[in-house]
Amino acid sequence: MAADPIWWCSSMSLLDFNRLVPAHIQSFEVYVPSKPDTEFMRLYGVDHLYRLNNNENALGPPPEVFDILQAFPPRAVPVYPNGDCFDLRNVLAEKFNKDPEQFLVGNGSCEVIASVIKAFCQEGDNIITADKTFAVYEWVAQFSGFEAKLVPLKDHAFDLDAMILAMDDRTKILFVCNPNNPTGTYWNTTTMTDFLDRVDNRALVVIDEAYCEYVEAPDFPDGLALMERYPNVIVFRTFSKMYALASLRIGYLCGALDVVNMVRRTHVVYSVNTLAQRSAAAALSNDGSFIRDTRKMVGDAKALVCPLLEELGLDFLCNQGNYLMVHLPFSDTLMYRKLMTKGIMVRTMTGFRFPNWIRVSLVQMPVMEEFCVAFQQIIQEMRPQRG
Ligand SMILES: *Cc1c(COP(=O)(O)O)cnc(C)c1O
Repeated sequence: MAADPIWWCSSMSLLDFNRLVPAHIQSFEVYVPSKPDTEFMRLYGVDHLYRLNNNENALGPPPEVFDILQAFPPRAVPVYPNGDCFDLRNVLAEKFNKDPEQFLVGNGSCEVIASVIKAFCQEGDNIITADKTFAVYEWVAQFSGFEAKLVPLKDHAFDLDAMILAMDDRTKILFVCNPNNPTGTYWNTTTMTDFLDRVDNRALVVIDEAYCEYVEAPDFPDGLALMERYPNVIVFRTFSKMYALASLRIGYLCGALDVVNMVRRTHVVYSVNTLAQRSAAAALSNDGSFIRDTRKMVGDAKALVCPLLEELGLDFLCNQGNYLMVHLPFSDTLMYRKLMTKGIMVRTMTGFRFPNWIRVSLVQMPVMEEFCVAFQQIIQEMRPQRG
């Protein structure tokens, strides 16, 4: 029998993991990232793969970034990046009319999530978020040994009243994903200010605006404006989604000066590479045409896919953001596998507490049309034949 490497390591190990590893790490389930495209293409026997699983912007990055990427000199490679993203923070400050010190840039906004939790939580503390939202808040809290109180969504949106009720004197941070990934619902300005009034500075409120550049609703609240009135607000943004810099890993937070200065203490310096810093600054210099084009792409995709889902009689959520969700009449994993054999990858959602839902990123037209044809065909072949 061939040795299973995991079994071999754990059974032969001289290390007493029960003593060495904290209980909250022992019980934490590791996240398994998806395999590289080449590996999948071999496995499913396809010559192409459209990734509709990570909400990436297939149009991007903005043209201004191309120049940075092409001109990046190899002689810059041995030199450490700027340790605190000095130039990029100046660009952000200028664009959003803030102090450069109010920004903290990370290796993706996932890194700043970790820095905020490290800065404010100690043993016995908790954070509050929704049960069906971006899972990284919950995961970082848990593998850091803090409780994550998960408040069920109400009508697929964050439940304001229940989140306030869940607060106790050990609650340090409330995470609101606005608009929510994966349901696309959002709190409007009235709801957000009502929430902030009721939190009443008893805890920090993180507003994760990863998809804010996609939102066109006029009553969508701007977290960067709200923080002027509410000093406990921290806004997260990323260059991974609208600006299409996901592979470079860069995102940031913005908050009141004294709050950000606390978070900075726990934040790893030099974690953001030079190419990412320069590309992000270049992306922000685009005149807005890139965002307009991307929004049009997403609008066109919604106009194509939603009527099909209606016609098929399926339950679906198509709100803000460059993604939608569909409830399948059978296993999400089965749909995933069948789509993979046609070179299309979607996100299965059972593991994110949406049993038999899939999430589909909305991309450019020929791909979206191919998705529709494949999806419809699979739904129809899975339907029990009548008569
Ligand atoms: C994708 C995403 C992020 C962050 O991504 P990074 O690539 O780490 O910047 C954060 N929040 C939400 C809700 C997201 O969907």
